Amino acid sequence: MKSAFAPSDTGPKNLLDFDPGSLEQFLAGMGEKRFRASQLLKWIHQEGVVDFDQMSNISKDLRQRLASVCHIRTPSIVFDQTASDGTRKWLLQTECGNRIETVFIPEESRGTLCVSSQIGCALDCSFCSTAKQGFNRNLGVGEIIGQLVLASSVLEAGQRVTNVVMMGMGEPLLNFNNVVGAMRLMMDDSAYGLSKRRVTLSTSGVVPYMYRLRDSIDVALAVSLHAPDDDLRNQLVPINRRYPLKELLKACKDFAAAGNRRKITFEYVMLDEVNDGPHQARRLSRLLSHVPCKINLIPFNPFPGSDYRCSRPQVIQRFQEILMQQGYVATVRKTRGEDIDAACGQLVGKVQDRTRRTTKAGLGEDMKF
Ligand code: SAH
Repeated sequence: MKSAFAPSDTGPKNLLDFDPGSLEQFLAGMGEKRFRASQLLKWIHQEGVVDFDQMSNISKDLRQRLASVCHIRTPSIVFDQTASDGTRKWLLQTECGNRIETVFIPEESRGTLCVSSQIGCALDCSFCSTAKQGFNRNLGVGEIIGQLVLASSVLEAGQRVTNVVMMGMGEPLLNFNNVVGAMRLMMDDSAYGLSKRRVTLSTSGVVPYMYRLRDSIDVALAVSLHAPDDDLRNQLVPINRRYPLKELLKACKDFAAAGNRRKITFEYVMLDEVNDGPHQARRLSRLLSHVPCKINLIPFNPFPGSDYRCSRPQVIQRFQEILMQQGYVATVRKTRGEDIDAACGQLVGKVQDRTRRTTKAGLGEDMKF
């Protein structure tokens, strides 16, 4: 896959680019036993040690051999901002100079890290600021898990990442292999040991990859729905033209059926007089009637140059009530980190080379099935 660019293809290997299985293979290639992989993962992800010399239960000889062929590198922090509500956003720089954003959302009983999967995004959803940045490339496994390594190492005492949402910049399913590799690390007991309920992938609805995801790894799925009919969804989420609602909802149903009482979360951004009418709430409730799900209403976060306004609070409340009357669990997402542009759809990073983006090129390599 051409677009699954692995930044350390040349020169020393970045150990963070290996998922647990490929790390074992790499070590086997060095004549080492499997358990070395779990020792290394524990040092890196649980102890926060990235210097081989400090890995005291690994022989000096192996430490030296590792240091001669690989290193452990995360993206570097360019900017670190904390909002008045405690939400923290990092602007990170990748090795090739592009920038991505990662957000930590502390709550009383949990800490959620919102992780980016691509530099920019090719999907061009009309209400999303990342879309306006264009698409540059996929992030490697190391750059994705590196966001977690980095955040964990700089969080304040008492703070911890308990949940990860693949809801930062990019469409995670269009970087399938690297995102799944990184999620395997998130869930590995020798690394972060997060349960399948605490790792959520959010997609705009790349249907064929939803089936692949179902067959590859057991994580929670969120789907960015945003409209109750194809006409409107075609405008808001253009990938709907390729995978219309009927196919999307079938994939959701199948995904839910594969897990044990697994529910899909549908995200629905509230856009004033676009998708927020009572008739649209009723239509949405009919549309989802056969999918085990909950619905998360997201107040629209404006950004410079955006054409939309957020729905009025009483309109959002009415929309929510209609869904609840129909028996749905419907929540309104609390907007976090607004004063530092860390809210949903406000992550822009800085994409230096946008030339690879045209709807076709951005989707190209990954979209051939
Ligand atoms: N590409 C994936 C991951 C992004 S997740 C996806 O589409 O699901 C980010 C969530 O925030 C998505 O549901 C997205 O549609 C929503 N979002 C994007 N722009 C927004 C904005 N300006 N205000 C509120 N939510 C937004």
